[in-house]
Amino acid sequence: MEILLLLLVCLVIIFVFAPVRQVLISGPIFGYFKKILPPLSATEQEAMKAGSVWWDGELFAGKPDWQRLHGYTQAKLTEQEQRFLDNQVNTLLAMVDDYQIVQQDHKLPEAVWQYLRKEGFFALIIDPEFGGKGFSALANSTIVSKIASRSLSVAVTVMVPNSLGPGELLSHYGTLEQKKYWLPRLAKGEEVPCFALTGPNAGSDAGSIPDKGIICYGDYQGEQVLGISLTWDKRYITLAPVASVLGLAFKLYDPDGLIGETKALGITCALIPTDHPGVIIGQRHYPMGLAFQNGTTQGQNVFIPMDWIIGGQQYAGKGWRMLVECLSAGRGISLPALGAACGHLSTRMTGAYALVRHQFGLPIGKFEGVQGNMARIGAFTYQLEAARTLTTTALDMGQRPAIVTAIAKYHMTEMGRTLLSDAMDIHAGKAIQLGPQNYLGHAYLGIPIAITVEGANILTRSLMIFGQGATRCHPYVLSELAAAAEPDPQVGLAKFDQVLIKHIGFAMGNSLMGAWQGLTAGKLIGAPVNNKMATYYRQLTRMSRALALTADVSMLVLGGDLKRKEMISARLGDVLSHLYLASASLKWFHDRGSPSSDIPFVHYNIQYNLYQIGQAFDGFFDNFSQPWISRVLKTVLFPWGINYRLPSDQLDQEICQTMMSDCELRDAITHLCYIGDDENDATGIVERSFKARLAALDAERKLIKAIKDKTIVGETMADKIAQGLALGIINAHEFELLVTSLALTDKAVAVDVFDKL
Ligand SMILES: Cc1cc2nc3c(=O)[nH]c(=O)nc-3n(C[C@H](O)[C@H](O)[C@H](O)COP(=O)(O)OP(=O)(O)OC[C@H]3O[C@@H](n4cnc5c(N)ncnc54)[C@H](O)[C@@H]3O)c2cc1C
Repeated sequence: MEILLLLLVCLVIIFVFAPVRQVLISGPIFGYFKKILPPLSATEQEAMKAGSVWWDGELFAGKPDWQRLHGYTQAKLTEQEQRFLDNQVNTLLAMVDDYQIVQQDHKLPEAVWQYLRKEGFFALIIDPEFGGKGFSALANSTIVSKIASRSLSVAVTVMVPNSLGPGELLSHYGTLEQKKYWLPRLAKGEEVPCFALTGPNAGSDAGSIPDKGIICYGDYQGEQVLGISLTWDKRYITLAPVASVLGLAFKLYDPDGLIGETKALGITCALIPTDHPGVIIGQRHYPMGLAFQNGTTQGQNVFIPMDWIIGGQQYAGKGWRMLVECLSAGRGISLPALGAACGHLSTRMTGAYALVRHQFGLPIGKFEGVQGNMARIGAFTYQLEAARTLTTTALDMGQRPAIVTAIAKYHMTEMGRTLLSDAMDIHAGKAIQLGPQNYLGHAYLGIPIAITVEGANILTRSLMIFGQGATRCHPYVLSELAAAAEPDPQVGLAKFDQVLIKHIGFAMGNSLMGAWQGLTAGKLIGAPVNNKMATYYRQLTRMSRALALTADVSMLVLGGDLKRKEMISARLGDVLSHLYLASASLKWFHDRGSPSSDIPFVHYNIQYNLYQIGQAFDGFFDNFSQPWISRVLKTVLFPWGINYRLPSDQLDQEICQTMMSDCELRDAITHLCYIGDDENDATGIVERSFKARLAALDAERKLIKAIKDKTIVGETMADKIAQGLALGIINAHEFELLVTSLALTDKAVAVDVFDKL
């Protein structure tokens, strides 16, 4: 007893008295921590600091406050934004013949360029003070998605000036003179911008660009001025072949100390008119054969004045931070919008086509084999729309959540790719034959572009989501890193000591709660709702707790090695990502008033997300470098095993039923699919055929019954319909419905044919 008491007193002394604690506990841990710290490049350090932490922080910390999630006011379009969509966007899309653009002209027609310029499509994010539209992130995303449902080539053309590039960089960092000069010209479309970072030897590792600028004096408009002599070689640059102004990223050096003592200033961004002497706009690429402009640019010892640096001389060397900050917001808009567009297009068209296309005497959407793929399209689209809404809500709240936007970029483009493949399979030959009637082919060709740009997806999954998330979203690690970076070791230790105590408490709490929640299978955790979704909130909270503990243990055991163990960190990133995607679906369901129509979609989504979380944990436990640690973790967190299951066949069938019905939910998850009014418009034909078929269903049933009992025996369907009318099996109105439906079905299943070469 005395010994126990003595032990307790010692522990109290150690933990309560900072000097004792620092010698016995914090000091040694601080030393170990500094030793295992990952070696961070300057570029990575900048990336760490960029952006903000939002709902991702809650999910990472093990105790998400669901009321807080429900409390975020969902972004809504303003009247002006809605009008722009209803008028300008629809007018634009009616002008676009994507087959002609991609397969025949290989470029956008002049009339489309003029319309884009005149109506301010390149000025969506520019402040109205400078002649722009000043639209929200939601509007930007909605406009890009809708255009992409018709033409990826036009969408990418619109997207680039409205995402990371001169417009955005100038808006955030430009000097007043730069803003006054460039922004109105960009807003009116008098200038076409591009932004060049990537080169032949610097793709994903963009921080390693070899392109250089040397500060020196040179001749500009007949005068000797201080400026930069630039040499660059860039490729893959969107809009470069038609750009009038080039945003250029390069490394800046000041060997003669003309602006200070630092010789290597770092990445810098400048704006250069493309008609400036020495600027070469090189040849064109053909990304997957699509028609948006993409090409190369070079320059050799091109002299530019100092004030062409975006933000002026004070921003010399700050380019990487500028790029990462803008990217951390922009990455959540344009490319996820392309993923969402694939979902809206595929869901609306596949549901409709699966009803009108008959084989073996049945709509193909009634075959169980088809339903497995088809349900994935609908369910993923529900989640895409939910994630699009939640992510733009964050951005419109003024957040710049770097991890959330990386999750959105990676998963929304991957989901777009998966469901496009499903849509292609279900349309079969109809989607294979390219031509004006094929509404899927160009999207299918183009989706790998979305996977590749703004952080190629493998890299985003492996390095960014958890790699950055572990530091950014963790409640204490960033402060611990800051303490380790303190030049004075005593000050560093004092700061570290303060955070360490909280960190130990956090880890102990997660261990105890993780074990308890594992033992009770999460059944006793509170939920913010009292409906069928309550169990999902409980399980997601439990998985959030499991992530918090597993992440802490991984960082403790692997330290700097965790960065290289990409297969391990990617799996933890998957857990975080699926927690985010699941919360997006729950939030969207909640904000829509929890309608019963959505329930199968939400069940599918969350079951799928939990299954993926389980798989990620399983893979982690099987492959973690210290098997005994993974065994302990697995036993503590999952004492009854990992039991999440994929959605059932029953759910697949319910989702397909909604996709083949003309209902509110179908509209809610496909409102971004452009349906043309023209009688030959491909999506318009399938949509009208779908509606005509639904209208004729009762009449069709009467006819089929008569055919089965041999009352009707005609050769063709047209004969049978005529006989049905003659025999009084259907009335004149039903006859009209069936004839219309038959004619439209023939058009819907038709594909393009061309003259032989
Ligand atoms: C159509 C198109 C338009 C583009 N537009 C522009 C533009 O306007 N401006 C601009 O500056 N750039 C642009 N880019 C460039 C684009 O951002 C790069 O293609 C991208 O950064 C990837 O570089 P890379 O293609 O050289 O691939 P690489 O860097 O060679 O990568 C190859 C593979 O390795 C993976 N990888 C690399 N490093 C790691 C790692 N550490 N861990 C895990 N995986 C890793 C990548 O994910 C990828 O799968 C465009 C590209 C394309 C295709």
